[in-house]
Amino acid sequence: MDKKYDVIIIGAGNAGCEAALACARIGVKTLLMTQNMDSVANMPCNPAIGGIAKGQMVREIDALGGEMGWITDQAGIMFKVLNKSRGPAVWSPRAQCDKKLYSAYMLNSIINQKNLHIVQMQAERIIVKNNKVCSVVTKLGDVVETSEVIVTTGTFLNGKIFVGKTFFDGGRFNETSSVSLSDSLKNDCGLEIDRFTTCTPPRINGCSVDYSKMEIQPGDNPPIPFSHFTDTVNWQKTKKQVPCHMVYTNEKTHKIIAANIQDSSLYNGLADAHGPRYCPSIEDKIVRYPHRERHQLFLEPENLATKEIYINGLFTGLGEEVQKQMLCSIEGMENVVVTRYGYAIEYDYVPPTQLKPTLETKKIENLFLAGQINGTTGYEEAAAQGIIAGINAAMKFIGQEQVVLTRQDAYIGILIDDLVTKGVDEPYRMFTSRAEYRLSIRSDNADLRLMDIGRRVGLISDAMYKRFELYRQTLVDIYDKVSQEMPSDEELFPWSQAKVQDEMSITLKYDGYIQRQKSNALKISKYENKRIPIDLDFNAISSLSRETKEKFAKIKPETLGQAHRIPGVTPTDIVFLYIAIEKMARSKKYESQRI
Ligand SMILES: Cc1cc2nc3c(=O)[nH]c(=O)nc-3n(C[C@H](O)[C@H](O)[C@H](O)COP(=O)(O)OP(=O)(O)OC[C@H]3O[C@@H](n4cnc5c(N)ncnc54)[C@H](O)[C@@H]3O)c2cc1C
Repeated sequence: MDKKYDVIIIGAGNAGCEAALACARIGVKTLLMTQNMDSVANMPCNPAIGGIAKGQMVREIDALGGEMGWITDQAGIMFKVLNKSRGPAVWSPRAQCDKKLYSAYMLNSIINQKNLHIVQMQAERIIVKNNKVCSVVTKLGDVVETSEVIVTTGTFLNGKIFVGKTFFDGGRFNETSSVSLSDSLKNDCGLEIDRFTTCTPPRINGCSVDYSKMEIQPGDNPPIPFSHFTDTVNWQKTKKQVPCHMVYTNEKTHKIIAANIQDSSLYNGLADAHGPRYCPSIEDKIVRYPHRERHQLFLEPENLATKEIYINGLFTGLGEEVQKQMLCSIEGMENVVVTRYGYAIEYDYVPPTQLKPTLETKKIENLFLAGQINGTTGYEEAAAQGIIAGINAAMKFIGQEQVVLTRQDAYIGILIDDLVTKGVDEPYRMFTSRAEYRLSIRSDNADLRLMDIGRRVGLISDAMYKRFELYRQTLVDIYDKVSQEMPSDEELFPWSQAKVQDEMSITLKYDGYIQRQKSNALKISKYENKRIPIDLDFNAISSLSRETKEKFAKIKPETLGQAHRIPGVTPTDIVFLYIAIEKMARSKKYESQRI
């Protein structure tokens, strides 16, 4: 480890890995500091990447030049496009992954990346001078100078693990929590901290399961890769897939849970921070839906080597003995062998309204936060923030324009806008319903939406961009009826004639709707991007209510669009704000003329 870097990233989860690769590929000297080299890009919960709205984000990360999609293609063991029975606008790619392979591929990309140094080391403090980051202090007492810091510490800050009535400190099961860094964010950086809870299901030995009593869930044939850059034809020839299985809880399972509910850390008052409503524990499901006779569970392979199985749908904070009884009550699992018990974790996060849309903190210059530390949940949400924080830290360092995606551009734009504008009151995950323009921001057209940005910041190579331009021009020519001829597959590669045809048919299908959406988007964007001067005094706008003034002063929206999306802010408030901005601009002009 050197004494000085341009950017230091703390934490090598999915956010940290994308951030580090983006910085190094842009060309800045990058250090990735992580507590445990054996858990790089670890998936501590479900063994899958993508899914509804998340799959779209993975395609967007890929189009920007990120790593997640490509690695999923290498480590994926079962690929399925969700929502296939509905329109292509909401098709969402998902892949079961071999977790060990995923982690190994990511470490390999990092180790082989120029400008990037990964080191196993705990960061203890961030040193700030004049409200600007200047160095990171390690557990061994080294002080490493840096211009930018990106913190991506996931569930590790003050992490506390619960299994039934037992609890202990931990960032994940078997990994130490990070206490000093949380204190430093509070005391050295002056950030507010809050707490959330999440939980994970037990894992079992697949050899102890009778799969003949369960419903088999095969992958798509042929599978569709995530990455725009994967050689689809050859990949499909060699990709081996393994199925998942589906099964249900039953009356006996529910009785066991109900009888022991006070044993659960989620019900006995131990883990009392907010958890995700949309990803409820099995205890929550029994309490909230007492009339339901059964709940669906999916048995998903954790990796190919060990036959260990993840039980999707059985998130729990129950004690280990009750977990065992509950599992044995399920058909096909009568003789089940548990390999890892489910657990709940409570951790510190930084309420994300303290961030700018670039993911830099408002309080401390050159300090960026990304991933679960910002109150999100999910690998894809983490990776999406990671790549944006990485790009922006590097762009800031080299003095170039940073990237802020809008809600019309991408799900990633929606994610970050929601976080920094509305904040979170439970761990945030992406849904298609959060997208106002979901017909336009589809998984199939992520390249058309974002590859120019990936190119501008230096994450898409010349050779690849040239081929992308040929693909895009072919689409334009066919659409405008200039030419119906297509370049060969070889010229288009990794795009193809088949991809041109598919894209064209989706475009034509949605053309009318999309044009209407675009004209609405245009109307909104007229004021959406209007900047609010940083010296505008919200308190001086007498027509605003006190509550609205307080909200504006706290969130410090940068544009009218961002101000508009703050919960409780009305269109009339925006008119008042607009008038105040115009008035300020006029008086500044008047002042400068007088001088
Ligand atoms: C118990 C549990 C349940 C979960 N349940 C769900 C779920 O239901 N649904 C879902 O979508 N997602 C779930 N996840 C969330 C998913 O793990 C995260 O959203 C995602 O992995 C977060 O990525 P990240 O990069 O922000 O952080 P993480 O993947 O947590 O990575 C953090 C990294 O920071 C490192 N680190 C921490 N502190 C320091 C330090 N001081 N110095 C150096 N390195 C440090 C760690 O070693 C680690 O590499 C769960 C996670 C856990 C642990």
